[in-house]
Amino acid sequence: MKIICIGRNYAEHARELNNPLPESPIFFMKPDSALLTNNNPFFLPSFSNEIHYEAEIVLKISRLGKNIAERFAHRYYNSITVGIDFTARDLQDKCKKAGHPWEIAKAFDQSAVINEFISIDSVPDRKSIGFTLDINGNRVQDGNTSDLVFTFDRIISYVSAFITLKTGDLIFTGTPAGVGPVKKNDHLVARLEGQIVLDFNIK
Ligand code: ZN
Repeated sequence: MKIICIGRNYAEHARELNNPLPESPIFFMKPDSALLTNNNPFFLPSFSNEIHYEAEIVLKISRLGKNIAERFAHRYYNSITVGIDFTARDLQDKCKKAGHPWEIAKAFDQSAVINEFISIDSVPDRKSIGFTLDINGNRVQDGNTSDLVFTFDRIISYVSAFITLKTGDLIFTGTPAGVGPVKKNDHLVARLEGQIVLDFNIK
């Protein structure tokens, strides 16, 4: 399986990092070795002094597809969750300045955190899904998919024009405003429509 991540998909978040809004989706990838599951702890890596959390809605692809039309894209995922796209912001800033790819800042081990997926059928309105991230009991991100720059359907259609999507692939759909650093012993809890789907610690 592969992990596809969308960048700058909430206007307020693009502004907080001084990035312009894209005209079409921006995506990058993480390898399957980036997965961290089952609420296991995240270990701060030695190569960065600034690991940022990014809470995002994650789609799980449920069938094979290529060149998927936007109007059929909703048939290609059947469950969602809230995941964390961990980012070595210090390394990312260096890569961006040098015009280099982002992999060392985005694709490292444990950088894609997921746990429990929810059936999309149990979500009342997929165009307006609320999700939050709390750190040590303080709400740091509070997003809603009604604020997406590019909808799930647009993302699936766009990505599948370049890359075949396969069952089990994951798409991280971008983070809302409020990103920031994690530190040792932080406790992260993510909710989807108020239901806890992710609960783990930083070590
Ligand atoms: Zn992200």
